[in-house]
Formats: sequence, C-alpha cells, structure tokens
Amino acid sequence: MLSKDNTQTYTLAKLQMYDECPQKYKLCYIDRVHIVENIQKLNASKTGTNIHNIVNFYLKGMDVSKLVNALSPREKILWHNFKNSEIKNLNYIASEYAFNLRIDEYWLTGRIDALFETGDDYIILDWKTGESFSPENVKFQTTFYLFCMYEILKAKKYLKEPKQLSLYYMDLYANSLVKIHFDDDLYIKYKTQILDIINKINNSANFFCNKTDKCKQCKYYRACPYL
Ligand code: SF4
Repeated sequence: MLSKDNTQTYTLAKLQMYDECPQKYKLCYIDRVHIVENIQKLNASKTGTNIHNIVNFYLKGMDVSKLVNALSPREKILWHNFKNSEIKNLNYIASEYAFNLRIDEYWLTGRIDALFETGDDYIILDWKTGESFSPENVKFQTTFYLFCMYEILKAKKYLKEPKQLSLYYMDLYANSLVKIHFDDDLYIKYKTQILDIINKINNSANFFCNKTDKCKQCKYYRACPYL
C-alpha cells in the first residue's frame, strides 16, 4: 500500500506537480526517484537564476552593473527587455517575497518574483526567461499566486476585493507582458481547486497517470511504470 503524505504544508511545486500528473507526484514525493536534469535544462535554469538575481537586486535599489557585465549575450537581451518594460511605471513594493498562508488546517507556502502597486490595485509580477512560455502551461501557478496573495493582502487590509489584484507574466524572451485579472468567481474557483488537490493527495491510494503528449518532456519518463 502506498504511504500517505502526512505533511500539512503544501508548496506550489508540490500541488502543481499533482495537478499535472498524480503519477509524477508519486514518483517524486513518495517514491523519491531522483532524476538528473539534462544539460539544456540545467543551462536554462542557470539563466533563470541569473536574471532573477539581477532583477531582485535592481528592484531593491542595488548597483547591478558588474552583474550585468558578466551576463551572456542572450541574458543581456533578457535584461534589456526587463529594464525597458512598462513595469517601470508601477510602484515597487517587494521582490522575492516569500509567504505562508493558513487555509483550513493546511499551510500553503510560496514565493512571488515581485509585487507592485498602482493606485488602489496590486500587481504580482512573474518573469519568464524560457523560449516557449505560455500562460496555459502555468495555469496552476496563476491559481496559487492569485489566491494566496489575495488572502495575504486582504488580511493586511491593503485591498478589499479580488478585482484589485492582477498577475502579470513578463515573457522576457518574447518581450511581452501577459496580464491576468482576478475576480470574485475566480477566487471561489481557485480556492476550491487548491483544496481539492490537497484532499486528493491526502486521500489518494491510486496515483493514476495523466498520460499525455507531454509525457516525452516529463523528467520521470524513463521511470514511469505506465510507459
Ligand atoms: S511520463 Fe507521463 S504519465 Fe508518467 S509520470 Fe510523467 S507525465 Fe505522468
């Protein structure tokens, strides 16, 4: 019989993985199968880390000129696209903001790239440095960030209604901004979705597979018993 996941703390990565494929969740968090990423993925992750660090330091008002000089030509283009984006018109509040949120008997934990404010509204910013960003591929991240940050900002009395919060994905490779808005209906839908996944994780005895055409990109492809 599969062991039950007893932890009461849920990260975005954990919930997102179950949402993508329960079998993938089992291989990662229950069987603890360790897979070494291929070199392309490791390079992409290094670029992501470099850009996230520079943007974070820059937003905090630090001198990043030496770090910028050390970037690769491709990374310099991503940095240029960030600096010239429309976010310079927004008021910066925080970057690399880590949060813990209590929902029922569970804790949700995560970290957003940055939070901005404009008038009475708040904007979560998330930058993407990969070559094939699509909002469709980060639907659960959207759910998690909007729901959690709304609860946190409402508790701090920064905002009163979901429509005052938005999430912007900054696609630095395509040099475009995808704006996602929030409202009362989405608040209920997202809360239900998050709790539903937690309940499934806690009650699941059968981590079925989500065999899709994306399986070939899954890092557990070779370890997956269904393929
Ligand atoms: S290969 Fe496909 S079915 Fe197997 S764990 Fe990955 S996503 Fe799930």
